Amino acid sequence: MNQQPVRAHHLPYGRQTLDESDIQAVVAALRSDWLTTGPLVERFERAFAEFVGASEAVAVSNGTAALHAAMFAAGVGPGDEVIVPALTFVATANAAVYQGGKPVFVDVCDDNLLIDVAEVERKLTERTRAVVCVDYAGHPCDYDPLLELVRKHRLILIADACHAPGALYKGRKVGTLADLNTFSAHPVKHFTTGEGGLITTNDTEMAARMRIFRNHGIDTDHRLRQERGTFHYEMQSLGYNYRITDFQCALGESQLQKLPQWVHRRRQIARRYDAFFQNFPLARPLVTSPDVEHAYHLYVIRLDLGRLKADRRTIFSQMRAEGIGVNVHYLPVPLHPYYRETFQTRPGGWPRAEAAYEELLSLPIFPGMSDQDVDDVTEALTKVLTHQGSV
Ligand SMILES: *Cc1c(COP(=O)(O)O)cnc(C)c1O
Repeated sequence: MNQQPVRAHHLPYGRQTLDESDIQAVVAALRSDWLTTGPLVERFERAFAEFVGASEAVAVSNGTAALHAAMFAAGVGPGDEVIVPALTFVATANAAVYQGGKPVFVDVCDDNLLIDVAEVERKLTERTRAVVCVDYAGHPCDYDPLLELVRKHRLILIADACHAPGALYKGRKVGTLADLNTFSAHPVKHFTTGEGGLITTNDTEMAARMRIFRNHGIDTDHRLRQERGTFHYEMQSLGYNYRITDFQCALGESQLQKLPQWVHRRRQIARRYDAFFQNFPLARPLVTSPDVEHAYHLYVIRLDLGRLKADRRTIFSQMRAEGIGVNVHYLPVPLHPYYRETFQTRPGGWPRAEAAYEELLSLPIFPGMSDQDVDDVTEALTKVLTHQGSV
């Protein structure tokens, strides 16, 4: 193999895009009277609700807090079961545990690694309270059968849509499809507030409960009390400090204006990868349904290990050595030591997620990538995999 790496400088798998207008928006917020619980929180919430087409958005300190608030709003409590796909980020399941709930892990479909709806139905019990679906990689789940199922059994559907702002399912926007829809504004996601998260819903009452939940369970916030000239407040339920600051919301609102063009660029990059994989037999991308517009938080491929001499770990290191920031999303959650010890989960329970895990590789994808960057990735893949190919 050619000793010279394809790239001299590391290409990350994801990266934020920030411009001068973002910086100026934050500076203006820092010069204002309110650093937190000020007017920019509501403005950001309204802008995001409008972006997804939901009536309400609640902004919180991170995407995990958004999931926790959604569990609270769904009424998840001690002993309740929450259906969660086995292949997701740990936070999806952790949020149920925070509320005393028990995550019940469900296997994913082989072609797109989204939750298997037939399998969801088989795992429902009398203790099931909510179903969480994850728009893995940015591909919306199959919402229609999921909604039918949760309506039939009077459950709440929570969409962990952290990968999918800007995605569409049968022409409907992600963020409006489930009862509660959660998003993250971490820098590796589609838009950023540094750390941040949002829940969107059309349920005004659930939105109000989540606004109280993010503020210790207290029914008025600092600004409201100042406006009313009162010191009195009451805590009605157990909440947390999951507030987001005004300068973060200033950044978020500024970032949102660019989100449509960034999603568009992610799709362009995906098309360029797709074209490459049409003539590359050693790995294949996940299948995209014709019913959706993908948001491409991740571009995930599956290695054809039957035709390769090396395993994924070796290929991962060799790609890194070529300067390509590949990643792996995710080790199935029930296989993490915490879940094995706490919920007695064992390997073998989620055969499709576990098999996929051995073959997965996430390729770099973010709006600031050039076509040349994409070509560097495919060149490195060709170099590494052709060298490892047994055919
Ligand atoms: C990023 C992410 C989260 C958590 O978001 P944070 O903002 O990092 O707390 C939850 N679920 C999924 C699927 C994610 O990708």
